[in-house]
Amino acid sequence: MSTRNRPLRDFNELQDFLLPALAGSYCEICGVRVTTDASDWDLRCPAHSFVGLTEEMFVGACAYRMQNIFREHLIALGRESDYSLMRYSAVGERLADCRIFKNMCIYSLWHLASCARRFLLLGNPLSPVEEVFEVEIATHAYLSYKHHLFVVAMRSGVAYALDITGVQFGPGWPLLKEWSAYRAERVLRVLGCWPLGTQRRLGEFGRKRWWMR
Ligand SMILES: [Zn+2]
Repeated sequence: MSTRNRPLRDFNELQDFLLPALAGSYCEICGVRVTTDASDWDLRCPAHSFVGLTEEMFVGACAYRMQNIFREHLIALGRESDYSLMRYSAVGERLADCRIFKNMCIYSLWHLASCARRFLLLGNPLSPVEEVFEVEIATHAYLSYKHHLFVVAMRSGVAYALDITGVQFGPGWPLLKEWSAYRAERVLRVLGCWPLGTQRRLGEFGRKRWWMR
């Protein structure tokens, strides 16, 4: 059996958060390491730092904005507010992000459905985006942890994983990546795929407010 077909190991804070956070700075979009100086703030890799309007940059800009909105929302809810002081250093900020998005993946789909619709210009004939899905996966590493993300299907035929809370698995996890590469690297199995807004309609997460515990 190849390692591709079985889960690797459990999550480990030292190995998956701390050591990567101390190893350098990361691209805010694709999660590749950009520098080897831990005090450098996360920025963009060369592929994602140019000013231009490619499909990927359009979706990347939307993803970045959605992640900021969701982070601010979680902070406003009072979740993990003790991490705010950590944000005065680059390493602290990376670690704070790993923590604040933990177990928030389903809720991010619930909270950001209308943002996704508006930012990605769904239904607009000029939008490069064809459709957005809510997808549940079992992660390749981390003993098949279940995880939820958006998948953005473009009119061009390319699809992107738009993973608002993926950074909960460590600083190198991408916010946006081509679905084919994301699937090959991160996904053990796809467990489900639903239209955008499905979690929103189910609504149960809003009533239970389980994320505020
Ligand atoms: Zn990048």
